[in-house]
Amino acid sequence: MNTATLLENLDAFAYREALASGEAVVLIPVGSLEQHGRHLPLGTDTILSSHIASGVAQRLGALVAQPIAYGYKSQQKSGGGNHLAGTTSLDGASLTALARNLVKSFLGQGVRHVVFINGHFENYQFLYEGIDLALEELGIRADSGRSVLLLSYWDFVTAETLEQVYPHGFPGWEIEHGGVLETSLMLHLEPAKVDMGRLIEGPSAVLPRFDRLPVVRERTPASGCLSPATGSTEDKGGLLFEQVVYELTVDLAAELAVPVGVPG
Ligand code: ZN
Ligand code: MN
Repeated sequence: MNTATLLENLDAFAYREALASGEAVVLIPVGSLEQHGRHLPLGTDTILSSHIASGVAQRLGALVAQPIAYGYKSQQKSGGGNHLAGTTSLDGASLTALARNLVKSFLGQGVRHVVFINGHFENYQFLYEGIDLALEELGIRADSGRSVLLLSYWDFVTAETLEQVYPHGFPGWEIEHGGVLETSLMLHLEPAKVDMGRLIEGPSAVLPRFDRLPVVRERTPASGCLSPATGSTEDKGGLLFEQVVYELTVDLAAELAVPVGVPG
């Protein structure tokens, strides 16, 4: 990870110089503290969104803010469920308030564009709501040239990459929890935090088409993973990472009219 783009490492005067250009772009990684089976750490979603933000920031000359390291409640059909120990979550009002506060602070200081890079499925609508409320409070209009973007990184994985990563067929994004995508990315980016020797192999979760609350705990596989991570490799992780960072950089550069530089 290139630490030079991290706001936490920047002094306030250097940050103010970046703001003075009127063109500053700040990326905010968003993740969770959530069980990811026996082979991946609780911080997986935050770790992955932070790496992706850093990769994009190097190419765009953007800054990366502190991640939001807690997420909205894990849901059984996308993260195994909030009842599992290790999964430590915010309620919707808290995550919405957090996003709203960050947008108000960054745009209030003169940042031109804020981009939330989400890595935890359940966060999306609460981030959206926080952004919307902040823009309303700030009175930022469409013709101001200032904006907030929101995305989940897996939406930038192309069909070609999916074919290479899942030669036996793609199980679907919802049940990609502790599966081949996250495990391969972690093997590429943070191999010391993965223990493939502890991987529990098993079939994909079979879940109903509805949500039931309270959850029926037995519906979550004992592994905590919704699809098997069998077949994860460092090479697949490298392919996924480079491809996602590339697509994301191209889209953001075009949308925000920022030149793409050579990663330093
Ligand atoms: Zn995850
Ligand atoms: Mn998650």
